[in-house]
Amino acid sequence: MVDTVGLVYGNIFVEKHKPARYHPENPGRLRRALKSIVRYGIKSKVEWYAPYKASRKDLECVHVKGYIDYVEELVAKAPAEIDPDTYVTNDTLDAALYAYGTAIHYSIKAVKEKKIFFGLVRPPGHHSGREGKAMGASTQGFCIFNNIGGAAKSLLDYGVESIVILDFDAHHGNGTQEIFYRDDRVLDIDIHQDPSTLYPFTGYPEQIGEGRGKGYSINFILPSMAGDDVFAMVFSRVTEIIKNYNPEIVLVSAGFDGYQFDGMTELLLTSHTYYNMGKFLKDLGKPCYITLEGGYANGMEMGLVSFIAGLLGIDNPIRVQKTKSFKQVIDQARKYLEQTLSLIKGIWV
Ligand SMILES: [Zn+2]
Repeated sequence: MVDTVGLVYGNIFVEKHKPARYHPENPGRLRRALKSIVRYGIKSKVEWYAPYKASRKDLECVHVKGYIDYVEELVAKAPAEIDPDTYVTNDTLDAALYAYGTAIHYSIKAVKEKKIFFGLVRPPGHHSGREGKAMGASTQGFCIFNNIGGAAKSLLDYGVESIVILDFDAHHGNGTQEIFYRDDRVLDIDIHQDPSTLYPFTGYPEQIGEGRGKGYSINFILPSMAGDDVFAMVFSRVTEIIKNYNPEIVLVSAGFDGYQFDGMTELLLTSHTYYNMGKFLKDLGKPCYITLEGGYANGMEMGLVSFIAGLLGIDNPIRVQKTKSFKQVIDQARKYLEQTLSLIKGIWV
């Protein structure tokens, strides 16, 4: 593995797809991240790459034509809404095509060059299913096209045979799960806050895939108020599964909204958790493409920078206290963990 990390960024991701009035998914999220990358000395330690634009045909690998037409129609009469959570502006299509095209281009480049790339893109994608809303969700949760899904489909076409998708955004990646639910070529592992307490209210342990895809969707649940200790307990099992599966590439839906005080979730994760995940991916030594999903407050500064430091294998520049969970949260987390593991016993554990 090459010992560096490529960050993919372009001004398009802050200049386009701007909400008309306040919305948590806005360009300020990326500005915060970039400022923090400079502030903590990461900027000069990574390589920088320009984003790539997808074609309409690329979108059709994942989404039905009717949905793509619908987005195009909404953009033509923008400002508009796909649903109360998900806005569309007259340049949304541009930004979304770049977010999606970047995922395709740099995931294939990651395989070719055995490298790690991280797309600092928006809009996010993991709630977007084949037809827009996924798995009965009420909204698309700020997502237009499923960027990580586009990467996985393109890699399969390219000839890659085993892919892991690791989604650590605090919300369940319902769009991604829906897209690969019957597919045994993509192992979709999703760690998220208890879906009985958070949008999109799916991602239970028993949702393990169907048909050929049975056993290829794995949902790990974190109770509300889970801290770094609970995350570490769960993540140690996740790492075991990824190592056993031994994929050709790991695709990551990286959301930083599990960071404590994010405001959108009830998780209490800190910089330690994100650093450890980055470090795990580096030590795994596999090609990796990471796409940015959520993250609406401190996580975009502290979580994101620590994650990149982990990917680089340098010390964590952020010093904060690890969060410890209440006993009842730990007990609940153990129950959820056992439930998930019992359902995939004999397959991955
Ligand atoms: Zn999220």
